[in-house]
Amino acid sequence: MGIIAGIDIGNATTETAIADIKGNDVSILSSGISMTTGVKGTSENVHGLFSSLTEALKSANIDIKDLSEIRINEAAPVIGDVAMETITETIITESTMIGHNPETPGGLGTGTGYTTLISDINNINDDKEYVVVIPKEVGFEEAAKIINDNSDRLKIQGAIVQSDDGVLINNRINKKIPIVDEVKLIDKVPIGMYSAIEVADVGEVIQVLSNPYGIATLFSLDSEETKHVVPIARALIGNRSAVVVKTPEGDVKERSIPAGFVQFIGDKKTAKVDIDRGAKEIMDTMEKVGKLQDVKGESGTNAGGMFEKVRVVMSQLTKAQPKDIHVQDLLAVDTLTPMAVKGGLANEFSKESAVGVAVMVQADKLQLEQIANDLSNKLNVDVIVGGVEADMAIRGALTTPGTNKPIAILDMGAGSTDASIMTPDGKITSIHLAGAGNMVSMLIQAELGLDDFETAELIKKFPLCKVESMFHVRHEDGTVEFFDKPLNPDTFARVCIITDDGLVPLEDFNSLEPIRQVRRQCKEKVFVTNAVRALTRVSPTNNVRDIQFVVMVGGSALDFEIPQLVTDALSKYSVVSGRGNIRGTEGPRNAVATGLVLSVVEGSV
Ligand code: ADP
Ligand code: MG
Repeated sequence: MGIIAGIDIGNATTETAIADIKGNDVSILSSGISMTTGVKGTSENVHGLFSSLTEALKSANIDIKDLSEIRINEAAPVIGDVAMETITETIITESTMIGHNPETPGGLGTGTGYTTLISDINNINDDKEYVVVIPKEVGFEEAAKIINDNSDRLKIQGAIVQSDDGVLINNRINKKIPIVDEVKLIDKVPIGMYSAIEVADVGEVIQVLSNPYGIATLFSLDSEETKHVVPIARALIGNRSAVVVKTPEGDVKERSIPAGFVQFIGDKKTAKVDIDRGAKEIMDTMEKVGKLQDVKGESGTNAGGMFEKVRVVMSQLTKAQPKDIHVQDLLAVDTLTPMAVKGGLANEFSKESAVGVAVMVQADKLQLEQIANDLSNKLNVDVIVGGVEADMAIRGALTTPGTNKPIAILDMGAGSTDASIMTPDGKITSIHLAGAGNMVSMLIQAELGLDDFETAELIKKFPLCKVESMFHVRHEDGTVEFFDKPLNPDTFARVCIITDDGLVPLEDFNSLEPIRQVRRQCKEKVFVTNAVRALTRVSPTNNVRDIQFVVMVGGSALDFEIPQLVTDALSKYSVVSGRGNIRGTEGPRNAVATGLVLSVVEGSV
């Protein structure tokens, strides 16, 4: 047969395996990997394909002229996309709340009193409690002097300051009071209203105003009124300082945004569900309609917009009409995302509920024959489109030492999670589900409020550490690592991602634990859910328990946590699972490409 190249075009990467085939002997010489160029299954793929092939040829020291055949996989015509909608928002109808994390508030503890402008203080003559409001026109020296001059005469219990002067004022006053500073929209703070102020010590978070009963105690609220302050308390959780002002009409509401419904069209029936019912109800509704034919969102709503956008993007990519794009699977996940509080005074953020979805569409015609022709003309080598992706992946996975039939695989890529199962007599069943590595990164980005996808991708792939001195870091598990040379000053006292290219510092995070938690939860929400969903569908009995061995392959199986999370979850179904090691050398990569060259020799499975 000679030298054969097997090439797998994925959504994210294009992988190559080169083999020398003599009779029935297949010896694999090398592998190559490169980013997929363009959308999988389109003619732009040729560039990525060529560089993947070139890399493999080079490492085997083989010239392109020596190739007798190239096999590309019959790529599954599925393309994934992800989108997100928030379903709640927090609105302040009157200025009643300031909860934020100025770098350096002043003083400590809680104080209550009526708000008054510092310029009015000389006119006051009673024994009520007061909280002074200090606009930026009044400097810290003057403010401190006015407070000191009046502190024996009046009960001044706290201060709300527009500039970043909390510490400066605190250092100059005789009776210590809590001071919240950096309140940008100070003129919106209502004057003459009863208010409560709280500042926590360095490294701590407020305890009273983040607790509905704490607010109720300070403002003497009854149980009905206490119900209304729950969103306030919730929005203040985790802050170092906060102010709550009670105004007659003032209200903070958490309201749900009418997000619209989604309609699932199945082969048995159709069913609708409101997006704001959350992920579980969405998924349960989808299960009820039988084999999914399409999904539509209510037009004129966020849900409608979300699906319309997916359809348009997909149609541009695949050059099909939007009406011909059909959603064939959907994964919905509940998530929380930080959003600015509407009507807030100091850029307050509140964690709002949101639903993230990954969808997968059937792309009618992949232009694989076209790619094969182009490539064949360009390279002057026979190019054959052959081998169903899932079949090839299983053949490749079986080269993992210690595996045998019957076997199931989970191919965890960027856009889709695929599963296939092979019975002892070699019969293969497979499925493609929406939601994989890209969705994990999207959820991490949303939950942590990150500006870009790339940072989320790094957080997904690598562990974290905290740089505690110029010469040492503390890892996630609490262990300490020392260095001979000083670390980059940019990383000092920061939470950093430990990437292959060194430490990448993250701004806006003081502690690594919340990031770690979000990272692991997002991985679980996507991959554990999809592993169970996928294996249930390919199991001959539709029960995961009836599968014995599962091998995980694909880029996301390289992750330092995902295979463990999945193994752990599947062990509850008595399933043995683990990360694949293709040919004993490639780890979970190259399964499909390896399967392609093996399939040339009949009976090699
Ligand atoms: P496809 O078959 O769709 O081309 P791959 O099998 O190449 O996809 O997998 C791509 C996915 O794997 C991406 O979501 C990427 O973030 C993820 N990935 C790649 N390397 C790693 C890694 N070292 N750790 C975690 N995830 C990874
Ligand atoms: Mg793949």
